[in-house]
Amino acid sequence: MDKQTCINQSEENLLHTYNRFPLVLDHGKGVYLYDTDGKKYLDFAAGIAVMAIGYDHEEYKEALKSQIDKLLHISNLYYSEPLERAAARLVKTSRMDRVFFTNSGTEAIEGAVKAAKKYAYTRDGHAGHEIIAMKHSFHGRSIGALSVTGNEKYQAPFAPLMPGVKFAGYNDLESVKALVTEKTCAVIMETVQGEGGIYPAEPEFLKGIRDLCDRNDILLILDEIQCGMGRTGKMFAWMNYDVKPDIVTMAKALGGGVPVGAFAMTEKVAGKSLAPGDHGTTYGGNPFVGAAVDKMLEIMERDNLPAHAAKTGAYLYESLEKLVEKYDFLTAHRGIGLIQGVECELPVGQVAAKALEEGLVLITAGTNVLRFVPPLIIETEHVDEMTEKLEKTFARLQ
Ligand SMILES: *Cc1c(COP(=O)(O)O)cnc(C)c1O
Repeated sequence: MDKQTCINQSEENLLHTYNRFPLVLDHGKGVYLYDTDGKKYLDFAAGIAVMAIGYDHEEYKEALKSQIDKLLHISNLYYSEPLERAAARLVKTSRMDRVFFTNSGTEAIEGAVKAAKKYAYTRDGHAGHEIIAMKHSFHGRSIGALSVTGNEKYQAPFAPLMPGVKFAGYNDLESVKALVTEKTCAVIMETVQGEGGIYPAEPEFLKGIRDLCDRNDILLILDEIQCGMGRTGKMFAWMNYDVKPDIVTMAKALGGGVPVGAFAMTEKVAGKSLAPGDHGTTYGGNPFVGAAVDKMLEIMERDNLPAHAAKTGAYLYESLEKLVEKYDFLTAHRGIGLIQGVECELPVGQVAAKALEEGLVLITAGTNVLRFVPPLIIETEHVDEMTEKLEKTFARLQ
């Protein structure tokens, strides 16, 4: 099938929920992707912060292949060793006590929200609790996750959504305090806002929220679906702050490319929360994804990828600072580790499209931010290659 046929047929057969770039990707190796014409691309998007260990990782592939030969799926009515290994690793590395595996990020949010509601229900003996979420947040596309996503455009067509959600300003502690009532059961937020434009939580904000939650027995749910799994230089972004959530959500990089998410919680929450009959999933945490998560975490810990992300992230930060100094249309720069964003006055969609012609895969966030979320295995020379390609892209657009 030639490239244009693939594009045309896809546009006929797929529901048009994405404006795709005219790129037909064929395979990947390390931090590079190759299209069906054999053209090579440096990947600074990682399939939206998913491919942390890059493409074609031998050891990871072998783990998946050997699990395929044994058992793919059994349902959650039985035990499997791959899932137990994944759970043990995840509980340890997340400093949580119990984990539930899902098939996606949005499902991890659904589970976290249900866990918080059930906790308050058990404590108070009745339902009717409220959740405080953040403006400009992103938590997913299913109705519950959409209900806590602070984006009018995403929400509007689907009203009425889940009731009892109030939105505060991110990094605005007073606006959160103003929304607390005796009905509040949880605050949900991203430790680093991703889709909203790469906004890390300010330390005082996150500490203030933790304190507010402690004083009112409100659960703190940190959504680490994008910023977690080593990307900020620690296994979870909240580990850069002196706070610990009650519930944490994960997905994206968790399975190294296999669709898997999870929500994990402390024993304090688990003891009063979801019990048999309250929650479930047919696929979630099957032996295949168990093997993927187990191997992903093993590689990440053994190869010290969070520390590597901190190091290359610092280099990326310096490099992007230089670009912001050099180009007037780059107006701000934020981020931590290998999740960074640069505000750009050129149309960012066009920058991303032109970058492809230069052999660079880049994505955007919000309406005016260039987003940098490469595989965690990049080296400083890849950062140099990226900035060179980006500058060439800018030259074409000016
Ligand atoms: C991507 C993302 C989600 C949703 O994950 P899906 O797997 O697309 O459902 C939720 N929260 C954050 C912070 C995300 O970046």
